[in-house]
Amino acid sequence: MSQQTPDDCLFCKIVAGDIPSERVAESERSIAFRDISPAAPIHVLVVPRRHEPTVGALAHASADDLADVFRLAQQVAEQEGVADANRMIVNTGSDAGQTIFHAHVHVLAGARFTEGRMV
Ligand code: 5GP
Ligand code: ZN
Repeated sequence: MSQQTPDDCLFCKIVAGDIPSERVAESERSIAFRDISPAAPIHVLVVPRRHEPTVGALAHASADDLADVFRLAQQVAEQEGVADANRMIVNTGSDAGQTIFHAHVHVLAGARFTEGRMV
């Protein structure tokens, strides 16, 4: 699996504020910002401030950071008024569509998700 060090990681630069983003929420451990290329009317990325390449690696590194990412994702869903109608997606590995190797959760809503199908 390809990995990026924090120095060349886009999301680390967004966390640091070196690259602008439209932040919608933040906590001590995580930040949430709108996806630059939304796949649904509401599309927010929630990322830990700590650099880990995947959500699985984050789970091993820090249960507190992992929990905080999902807690903030839920806060975003509530803020956006879609707490009962959203889809949270985690891509792991380039074959599954992961393009940024800094752990993140997609919060998607506002689209009609195909009934009975995960993807
Ligand atoms: P992945 O494909 O790794 O699961 O998700 C990466 C996401 O990051 C994609 O949905 C992509 O649109 C988004 N993205 C890539 N570059 C930027 C950027 O510079 N700013 C923001 N806000 N989102 C980005
Ligand atoms: Zn990073």
